[in-house]
Amino acid sequence: MTDPKQLAPVLKFVVDRAAALFDLPVVQASLEAIKRDEKKTLADQIAITEIEAPPFHEKMRGLDLMERFKTLGLKDVSMDPEGNVIAVRKGSGNGPLLVLAAHQDTVFPAGTDVKVREENGVYHAPGISDDARGLAVILQVLRTLEEYKIETVGDLYFVCTVGEEGNGDLRGSKYLFHKSSLPIDGFISVDGVDVHRVLSAATGSKRYRVHFDGPGGHSWKNFGLPSAIHAMGRAIAKISDVAPCADPRTTFTCGTIAGGTTVNSIAAHCEMELDMRSAGAKELDEIEANMLPLFEEACQEENARWGAEGDNAVKLRLEPIGHRPGGQQSDEASVLQAARAAMQKLGIELKKYDVASTDHNIAINCGVPATTLGGGGAEGFNHNVREWYDPKDGYLGPQLAFLTALVLLGVKGVTEPVLQKRA
Ligand SMILES: [Zn+2]
Repeated sequence: MTDPKQLAPVLKFVVDRAAALFDLPVVQASLEAIKRDEKKTLADQIAITEIEAPPFHEKMRGLDLMERFKTLGLKDVSMDPEGNVIAVRKGSGNGPLLVLAAHQDTVFPAGTDVKVREENGVYHAPGISDDARGLAVILQVLRTLEEYKIETVGDLYFVCTVGEEGNGDLRGSKYLFHKSSLPIDGFISVDGVDVHRVLSAATGSKRYRVHFDGPGGHSWKNFGLPSAIHAMGRAIAKISDVAPCADPRTTFTCGTIAGGTTVNSIAAHCEMELDMRSAGAKELDEIEANMLPLFEEACQEENARWGAEGDNAVKLRLEPIGHRPGGQQSDEASVLQAARAAMQKLGIELKKYDVASTDHNIAINCGVPATTLGGGGAEGFNHNVREWYDPKDGYLGPQLAFLTALVLLGVKGVTEPVLQKRA
């Protein structure tokens, strides 16, 4: 995390374009309209929340979102083979392509009660904030652009991704960047609510489930055979002593263990899950390269301890269960500059300039300027059925996404796009 006060000032040409846009009467009217429409944004957010979207089963919500984009005036609305909803608002021509995204999926399993309950102006339901807020925000940006018939130079693609959370492993944005042939020049995800935070880089992660399998046996009669659990214990002791890179920050943990059957058995099977993360792509590869051989070493030591060979030996299987590529970008990346310029015009103080893992990971890893912005308001207990959302000052979220997008895309006859077309 960088102290925002240490950042170089926003580049002058970006500040100038943001100012030119901000001073336009139509932009002022649009920002007012976003505030006026707060109840509409919130109504969208509640309706979206009440259509459940469990991991790998986002389709009902996706179909609903497609209708919402059409109702707001877009004709080119589709669902790609992975389940992402893509709604296109073309610019005046030959401009860059910006994706404004939010994720459809929640962490909650099918059958979770998603009815929204209001109490003293605070809304409670699983998924009400993460990321129904982001979805409602991008719809509000569209509503405003359409109402005021704002003609951007570049193309704006609204994308509702699937599989952002957990084992979804960013499958929606992976599809978008690796398989769809869209020539994406910039990417903004609206996720989380804090408008004072800009994400500037992506934490990468690699995850493994590690299986240990041995002969097993009775703890008394078969004493002398190697144990799957003992092998895993050796492995955990070894990985515990690895010293990862401090800058960029790199971390690891053995998050879960399971195995064995009874207290008086030499364990035939056990497994553990390993999570490795880094703010640097190279450092993530390095820690993986350091860690993985330790498991094999641990098995060999356990087998050597008992002279176990062949069918009597403990064997290892490494099962990759997640890979979120990460990466960094220059502070002068257009998307970061545009977001900061928009914040200054809107009077939103930049308090956190941070690194995290979201849909923007894939973009940054592909060299596409990207960030994640907050949707406005306040939230709590995310990823918990007690999740809540407080809409106080929530309009700042759609205002920020709206103005940032305009700075990046340019407005016909007023400003050139800050976003560059990639070769
Ligand atoms: Zn989220």
